[in-house]
Amino acid sequence: MELGLSIVSTAQVLREEITELKKAGGTVALVPTMGALHEGHLSLVKLGLELADSVVCSIFVNPKQFGENEDLDAYPRTLAADIQALSSVNTDIVFTPETDEMYPEGYQTMVSIGDISSGLCGASRPGHFDGMATIVCKLLLMAGADVAIFGEKDYQQLLVIKRMAEDLHIPTKIIGAPILRADDGLALSSRNQYLSAKDRDLAPLVYKILVDTKDALLDGSEIEATLLNGQKTLKANGFEMDYFELRDTVFLQPLTGELNQRPARLLVAAKLGNTRLIDNIEV
Ligand code: AMP
Repeated sequence: MELGLSIVSTAQVLREEITELKKAGGTVALVPTMGALHEGHLSLVKLGLELADSVVCSIFVNPKQFGENEDLDAYPRTLAADIQALSSVNTDIVFTPETDEMYPEGYQTMVSIGDISSGLCGASRPGHFDGMATIVCKLLLMAGADVAIFGEKDYQQLLVIKRMAEDLHIPTKIIGAPILRADDGLALSSRNQYLSAKDRDLAPLVYKILVDTKDALLDGSEIEATLLNGQKTLKANGFEMDYFELRDTVFLQPLTGELNQRPARLLVAAKLGNTRLIDNIEV
């Protein structure tokens, strides 16, 4: 079957192809991913095509953003299906480098971001955001895209990338895209396929607790007590809590007491079995 998209594995060819697209006067959107694509990823590509003339999607499972005891080796890799899916939504270029293309022998440079990357997922995944920021920085510099699109699903990641792009004067505009969910509310994630059937049935509780907590906060309930209630319910249903917090939407500082600062963001991370689920909503 004719795919109609270009599959590129080196930085040099990526640059050449993007330069050609731009020479013809076109704008370019970049969508970085780790593959195992689902409708959430494809929604970013579709948004990219609304915002720019062409879309480049990168697929790279970045070893530097996985901790020692994390799922790097087990992370799902479904490249052939990913390419078909990207073709079906009219992606122009798929960038699928090998690890030694991104980190050749002698590689030494890391990007490290301050406070905004230290709490929440940064606290439970040491080194994760430095690894993520390093690869995203490299992709942004390689692609020179007009816009780059990231899901609000990884809300802290989105803010860390915005901070980095601003701090490093990277001219690509960073855009956040809404979270795509299954019908039962579970945020789509490549890691959902790790869930047992029983845990998959339980998993939508994360979103339900977010919505219930938001409603309680908007009704005037005190922040700490409301968050504690939500945590208790998740624990009682077999979740292992990592965090459940209300934060501001610029610096991600914790909000306490009464809800008097909006918009705010309610963020949660919890494990079901070995699967770590994260989710968030605006309050
Ligand atoms: P990943 O492949 O998990 O690194 O994700 C690649 C990009 O897709 C990131 O910007 C994610 O935030 C985004 N993404 C993942 N899941 C979703 C979802 N359910 N809805 C919207 N964007 C998502």
